[in-house]
Amino acid sequence: KKRNPGEYEFHQAAKEIFDSLVPVFAKQPKYMEHGILESISEPERMITFRVPWVDDQGKVRVNRGFRVQFNSAIGPYKGGIRFHPSVNGSIIKFLGFEQIFKNSLTGQPIGGGKGGSDFDPKGKSDGEIMRFTQSFLTELYRYIGPDADVPAGDIGVGAREVGFMFGQYKRIRGGFEAGVFTGKGLGYGGSLGRTEATGYGTVYFVEEMLKDKGLSFKGSTVVVSGSGNVSIYAIEKAIQLGASVVACSDSNGYIFDKNGINLETVKRIKEVERKRISEYVKEHPHAEYHTGCAGIWTVPCDIALPCATQNEINVDSAKILIANGVKAVGEGANMPSTLEAIDLFLANDVLFGPGKAANAGGVSVSALEMSQNSMRLSWSFEEVDAKLHEIMEKIYRNSVKAAAEYGHPGNLVVGANIAGFIKVADAMIAQGVV
Ligand code: NDP
Repeated sequence: KKRNPGEYEFHQAAKEIFDSLVPVFAKQPKYMEHGILESISEPERMITFRVPWVDDQGKVRVNRGFRVQFNSAIGPYKGGIRFHPSVNGSIIKFLGFEQIFKNSLTGQPIGGGKGGSDFDPKGKSDGEIMRFTQSFLTELYRYIGPDADVPAGDIGVGAREVGFMFGQYKRIRGGFEAGVFTGKGLGYGGSLGRTEATGYGTVYFVEEMLKDKGLSFKGSTVVVSGSGNVSIYAIEKAIQLGASVVACSDSNGYIFDKNGINLETVKRIKEVERKRISEYVKEHPHAEYHTGCAGIWTVPCDIALPCATQNEINVDSAKILIANGVKAVGEGANMPSTLEAIDLFLANDVLFGPGKAANAGGVSVSALEMSQNSMRLSWSFEEVDAKLHEIMEKIYRNSVKAAAEYGHPGNLVVGANIAGFIKVADAMIAQGVV
């Protein structure tokens, strides 16, 4: 905290990891001797830059851009770009730090990075989005590349923004380096299944947790927060597996549909019309809209999938979920539960899938996109989805194994952190003091 004052989100992410690693350091003194904790929590590089652009009224606007290149011990930096007014150095660092362990868990050769800007895409025209994104890339391009650092999307950044960034990169650098971004459009190097990967992967992970306890999605009531990329495809897969998804949200409020959410309507409102989730009740008047997004956790459910943003489940929301009988929580978002909320879930035997493991499907398929780009071929949706399924099962099994091996059976927070850490730490030691 002294070294990184005011970086609350980063402190939170680091505390969770450090607490989990206590049994590893007790068993393996080599990590202490090599100063791994100090090295791994210091980014290799943190880039901050000015992003000037001109709005539709001809006024000059200035935002701040970030890229943290946290760790390249096992592969090129890999992690998304976030456009949201809340973005600051602490948020980018927490996301980049988590990404190191998540990427290691996937079993793919990718290091940890993350980037973004405090630019607010809400209400901006396509032209404004393009001019901002081009300006952002005009600085970022010099730090990224298919073997150096490979960004993708995150909050506020989808295929449209990735397309603009890729176009500007190509224009500056020349050539067609498809592997410099993932989450690209299908017509120019994108992978089938990438759009669905994070949401589907989260559901596959939770399915494994449930299976171990003789439970399943079939017939369960599910609540999914958010209505963005991760949420929509978590909802889709949960419905495919026979669940009834009764609520979802955006940053203004949530909808409750006791008959089960009509996903086609949500997709059209959010993906095509880019409108607010409150529009849903105009077409489905029997459904309810409530202002305030935190209220979604008061909706009784068997399975809760927080898929919106960090710290969206605090201790009060966790208490309500538990009182309403929640059996499993799977984090589609990054760090959506506070440390106190996680402790409460674990103390009450709620099955808990931490984001680092449960939402690793997105970056896994991003790594598959990089492989396809390198090989200059594209796999079918079924092929990618089967690989994703296999990866999520493996992440689950490795996390369970590490938790048991280090004295915390059933604790997937500890298991995922340890399983992700060991591979990176060993690679760092092998590469010397760098
Ligand atoms: P999107 O921008 O597509 O969607 C985000 C959703 O969450 C929107 O419904 C948004 O509502 C809501 N939201 C955003 N900020 C807040 C907030 N402060 N309070 C309440 N609701 C909010 O982003 P993604 O779906 O891509 O990302 C969601 C989460 O998943 C993030 O934590 C991200 O880091 C994580 N993640 C994403 C991956 C991916 O592949 N995209 C991979 C792994 C993790 P509104 O429209 O009102 O802003």
